[in-house]
Amino acid sequence: SREQRWEMRVLRLSDGRRIVHLGDRTGSYAAERMRVDFVANASHELRTPLASLLGYVETLSEDAGDDAATRNRFLKIMHGEARRMQRLIDDLISLSRIEAEKYRLPDQSVRLPALIEEVSTELSGSPRAADLVTQISDVPAVLGDPTQLSQLLHNVIGNAMKYGRDGTPVTVTVRPEGESMVRLTVADEGEGIPSQHLPRLTERFYRVDSGRSRSLGGTGLGLAIVKHIVERHRGRIDISSVVGKGTTVTILLPVQRVS
Ligand code: ADP
Repeated sequence: SREQRWEMRVLRLSDGRRIVHLGDRTGSYAAERMRVDFVANASHELRTPLASLLGYVETLSEDAGDDAATRNRFLKIMHGEARRMQRLIDDLISLSRIEAEKYRLPDQSVRLPALIEEVSTELSGSPRAADLVTQISDVPAVLGDPTQLSQLLHNVIGNAMKYGRDGTPVTVTVRPEGESMVRLTVADEGEGIPSQHLPRLTERFYRVDSGRSRSLGGTGLGLAIVKHIVERHRGRIDISSVVGKGTTVTILLPVQRVS
């Protein structure tokens, strides 16, 4: 789907001769296109709940505000819309922070087993907390940013819970991968993802089913954030899935070298 773009420039040499320079601009056009799409998508995602909020405010300030039951119902909806905008803005801020730090290697010693413990405690109030299973082996520390790695765990485990089925396990596994990597997997037994979507899941705002994602409180940015965190940690991510069986997200992170 990538259009080839060329830029032609005529350069004049000091002796008066001219040369024609043909530059391949495909890459920068694609990057520009992505930036424009991103701003358009983000604005659209914010405009929808905002329009709904405005509509309810206007209705409430007219006659609907007189009836207590209607008023409460409207306020509940407005609260939901405001929360949706808040989640989106939080994710946009996270994304731009992580992108801004792209070239700064994370420099703290992070023990993934302890971090997973922490995140599962934070998730203990969620409706599917009972489905969370952890399988933790002894692994070396990774060189990381604990805040970002905690966000990575929240996003991936959160998805497994959101798109999984109630009562089926969400299994988080950590084990060494050779000498130099730690392997983290999060597996669910949910609906799965058709294979044609897999390569695009980490794109910003890419969703398999937008309506479903939105109704579950998704912003469409979770996996884009995860991908940026993995890249900043010089790691790798792979998502595999079987429709009707479930999804497994595998993340490899380099261990901290002891010198
Ligand atoms: P969202 O906020 O929509 O969940 P993400 O970036 O986290 O956004 O994920 C992108 C899309 O990938 C989701 O909308 C969903 O369609 C799909 N997805 C992510 N994780 C899973 C999973 N564990 N099972 C099924 N589908 C998933």
